[in-house]
Amino acid sequence: MKILLVTGESLPYAKSGGLGDFIYSYGKALAKEGEDCSVIMPFYGVMRRKFPQLLENVFDQYDFKMSWRDINVTVFQEERDGVKFYFVCHDVFERDNLYGYGDDNYRFALFMMAVHTFITRHNDYEIVHCNDWQTAVLPLLLNYNSKSIKTVLTIHNPAYQGWGGRNDLSDFFNLSLGYYDSGFVRMGDCFNYLKTGIMSADKINTVSRTHARELLNDHSGFGGMGAIIDWCRHYDFSGIVNGLDIDVWDPKTDKQLAMNYTYENYVEGKKANKRALLEKLGLDPDFQGPLFSAITRLSAQKGVERIMDIFPHLEEKNARLIVIGTGEMEEQFLYKSLPFKNVYFVKRYDEELAHLLYAASDFFLMPSYFEPCGTSQLISMRYGTLPIVSDVGGLNDTVRDVSLGEGANGFTFYNTDYFGCVNAYYRACDLYWAKKMQPLIDVGMHGDYSWAKSAKEYLALYRSIDWK
Ligand code: ADP
Repeated sequence: MKILLVTGESLPYAKSGGLGDFIYSYGKALAKEGEDCSVIMPFYGVMRRKFPQLLENVFDQYDFKMSWRDINVTVFQEERDGVKFYFVCHDVFERDNLYGYGDDNYRFALFMMAVHTFITRHNDYEIVHCNDWQTAVLPLLLNYNSKSIKTVLTIHNPAYQGWGGRNDLSDFFNLSLGYYDSGFVRMGDCFNYLKTGIMSADKINTVSRTHARELLNDHSGFGGMGAIIDWCRHYDFSGIVNGLDIDVWDPKTDKQLAMNYTYENYVEGKKANKRALLEKLGLDPDFQGPLFSAITRLSAQKGVERIMDIFPHLEEKNARLIVIGTGEMEEQFLYKSLPFKNVYFVKRYDEELAHLLYAASDFFLMPSYFEPCGTSQLISMRYGTLPIVSDVGGLNDTVRDVSLGEGANGFTFYNTDYFGCVNAYYRACDLYWAKKMQPLIDVGMHGDYSWAKSAKEYLALYRSIDWK
């Protein structure tokens, strides 16, 4: 099958969260299955410095219209791990960050229009697989394609929807305002990019079974998006849990670690990494207590308040917490952490340090309010670090509480529950000091997090679409 993954980000080029992991590792898994897989994404300013070789391979250059505007883009290409990557280059992407700008609607409308033209010029894709709101109007645009192309939209995070004005339809996408006036693409008084994809893609999915159920059952959350899916697309909607890139995230080969390790020598391995990390951060390298960590976007979704609830309890158990994160709550997090000497906060995006912290930690905190899938809990388990998670979405599908006995690999608690989270913290400390973590680490480190099974589920989803 000839498949095009359309995305706002992908490792190793540009990543802000789990979507970047998803595209790169799923693309590789499709190539391994013998499928013809391509990825198309914007060429961001940060990539110019980090991947200058991309500029040498111009694949295409073309013009298209966004109502009165004449837009010209260049598309670069590079093949990596059996996947063809295409990069759409235009001034609007020449910035330091991927998203978060006032004109994001325009930037990603331009990206979608560029991809639409790209697909028409190279009209042999059978599946166009879109991801999140930044690509979600594409299935509607492809309705106008001369060749019938099957479309899939994966919702990685329903909280980000792309809210635009009615006029975006004609001004950015050359589409009739009738789509808005009829209610097809409208949510409240906005043109909603994500809803557009939900209404127009052949199949829609989210990234875990539990989150799919949560969306269908929650008609008021996410601005009513669950209700739209339930009422309009219930039978075309499913949940497929993400795999993990087990080549990138492998404590046996990870080059960022001070010492590589497997299950056979995880005690020494984790000890060496803990020491190296503490030394690197200027902390006491002889610290013997439980090390908790979080590597996360500091947004309300991620349960940042629950992490802050732990601060006053660290000293009592001689525990330490190290957090790497950025986001809208970073100042609040920094301010609250100042009085606590057992909290160390790294306020930046740091991929290298993240690898070392996963290996060095004993416990990983992920008290999300909602979590479509989550990648960090899978990485933690693979590195012999026990996850402490709220009982939602993909966390529910992948983490089993210690109280459940056989097969347990971490700690779970009910979401938004202060006592549950603090209680899970104390349960974790007790297990640490009683030296009883090994059976859970065993389950975690031996879990199958590979993409093989999920990639087959996606291929089955593609095949289930009727030819129009
Ligand atoms: P989300 O996609 O909602 O942000 P996930 O758990 O699916 O959450 O994925 C987060 C990914 O981003 C993980 O690989 C995590 O290690 C990484 N990450 C998040 N914040 C940082 C940071 N500040 N520095 C390095 N890596 C980070």
